[in-house]
Amino acid sequence: MPNGAWIGGSLALLSAGGALAHAVRGRSSTVFGPSVYHGNRTRPAIALTFDDGPSESTPALIAILARHQVPATFFMCGKNVERLPDIARAVAAAGHEIGNHSDSHPRFDFCSREIIYRELAQGQEKIRRYAGVTPRLFRAPYGVRWFGLKSAQEQLGLLGVMWGTMGNDWKWPAPRIAQLLLRRARHGEIVCLHDGRTTQPSPHIDATLEAVDTVIPKLKERGFGFETVSQILCPAN
Ligand SMILES: [Zn+2]
Repeated sequence: MPNGAWIGGSLALLSAGGALAHAVRGRSSTVFGPSVYHGNRTRPAIALTFDDGPSESTPALIAILARHQVPATFFMCGKNVERLPDIARAVAAAGHEIGNHSDSHPRFDFCSREIIYRELAQGQEKIRRYAGVTPRLFRAPYGVRWFGLKSAQEQLGLLGVMWGTMGNDWKWPAPRIAQLLLRRARHGEIVCLHDGRTTQPSPHIDATLEAVDTVIPKLKERGFGFETVSQILCPAN
């Protein structure tokens, strides 16, 4: 893994080669902090992750997951946890994993180290205060990593989590989302969906809910199980 000196000395080269874009947004990049984008590839397990919540639509999603007896991972924004603390607590009480998705969901590129640390720390503090759990996982808003993120993650004990499949569920209808998820399903895949919309105050996420409800039984028929991100990262035991 590259160290700070390597980053500093090579930034010009990275930019020139177009590699900076990969360092910032590439799913496999760990330049700006420890990060994973898939789990154990030997087990037929998939991790569903839901970003940007909690929202008013999250309880409906929890009900669908409960009906299928499927655990998932929710990357929550501190500000939304503060707004809907009961829903955040309900997610934890239902046995799902909660990760940190920053406080207010900014793009980190060109943000100062102080702002980046504050975003992670406030997200962490609000999730701890309102949902009663301390996240170990962090997903960068828009998948954008930047200078200062690595030390912020290290100080707060957070592992970065990208994704192998992006569901595009904020813009696609349910059948298209479902089709993509079924086509991309593979051992250890981390799937990114959304139970919140950062651009709207009161989202109703019908396409996401319908796609999840459709896809889970079909993937079970194909032999897949569902795990939280922490579970899917662990070796089989
Ligand atoms: Zn997000």
